Amino acid sequence: MALDRVRTLKKLSLVGAHTLTRPQYLCTRCGVRTDPADTLWKLGPGLLSPELSRVVSAVGVEIPSFERATATVSETLGIHLATRTVERTC
Ligand SMILES: [Zn+2]
Repeated sequence: MALDRVRTLKKLSLVGAHTLTRPQYLCTRCGVRTDPADTLWKLGPGLLSPELSRVVSAVGVEIPSFERATATVSETLGIHLATRTVERTC
């Protein structure tokens, strides 16, 4: 395994926007690339951090309107998301 490159990823979290920098490794035998930090940090697809995704999902499940759920996230967390981001996250 050899360090192949360093990649950056932008995520929006409960405490603001972050740019994460993490290494990607290349297997020198089979050529497969791995991102151990992505696995360790449980980074999934999309803009939101895993923690913010869980909060947005919980709000979206409890409030039977994605527009109202989006407004609640905005009012309570001060994080302004598109309604379709809340819907997609749920
Ligand atoms: Zn390999």
